[in-house]
Amino acid sequence: MKWKNRRRSSNVDDRRGQRISGGGARGAGLGGIIMTLLIRGSMRTRLLVIGAVLAGMFFFGVSPQALMSGGGGSQPVTTQVAPTPNDEMGAFLSTMKADNEDVWTQLFQAHGKQYKASKMVIYSDKTVMPGGLADARMGPFYMPSNQTIYIDPHFFNEMSQRFGAPGDFAQAYVVAHEVGHHVQHQLGYTDRVHSQRGRVSEKEYNRLSVRLELQADFLAGVFAHHADRQFQFLESGDIEEAMNCARAIGDDALQKGAGRKVVADSFTHGTSEQRARWFNRGYRTGNLEDGDTFSVAYEQL
Ligand SMILES: [Zn+2]
Repeated sequence: MKWKNRRRSSNVDDRRGQRISGGGARGAGLGGIIMTLLIRGSMRTRLLVIGAVLAGMFFFGVSPQALMSGGGGSQPVTTQVAPTPNDEMGAFLSTMKADNEDVWTQLFQAHGKQYKASKMVIYSDKTVMPGGLADARMGPFYMPSNQTIYIDPHFFNEMSQRFGAPGDFAQAYVVAHEVGHHVQHQLGYTDRVHSQRGRVSEKEYNRLSVRLELQADFLAGVFAHHADRQFQFLESGDIEEAMNCARAIGDDALQKGAGRKVVADSFTHGTSEQRARWFNRGYRTGNLEDGDTFSVAYEQL
């Protein structure tokens, strides 16, 4: 793909090489105090603490994992000031981010809506996020609460070496998929799914998750369609790179690759075939109306 000499996004926070210090990393702070009270306190103290924690989580939307890891109430700080990314990978990611911003701003406008760009944090290994730590082992992800994409580019090495999905356009697909989650957040799909957590069975929730993920793949395809019209950035083999990547990270492929039995009810992202097909559908039509993965019968997805 061609990506050089285009605009780079200013919504990128490059934290690579930064070390984390402060409460968030060490399990001190509020989380630590709470754990101490729970372990050492009397039964009455424990009940009071549990009540306070539950009330706090309810009002502030803090996840229990965040409290356990000590990130709940402390103020973690990072060392060094974030430099502007000037290396190849940093330049690539901030150009992809800008391409996505340009395409989605126009598509939202065409639908009478206003697009608000997400942020992107590029980090290595671990970094602070609201309520805890982002960890490279989680893979790239989008956090709706602060509308931020977290990405450790080492994931791309893993994609290429472990999953057999190399290529710059495979990487572009991953970025566009995460931006797709931000688009879904703005269109209300994310809340629609998250509000069902705990209200429906695990199997049903997994199915909603599959619908959301396949739609993000579709939106990545829609991006590719419009970005190519705008920037003529596709080269031969690019779309195949993205579809190969979508197949490589299908739930069935990942379960097989890990030597596990393939269990359809545990899928959260969709099969290899589904992921590649929904991406391709978005790419072929470029039409947002073709991506309502929530109206299609689950078996027909
Ligand atoms: Zn996703």
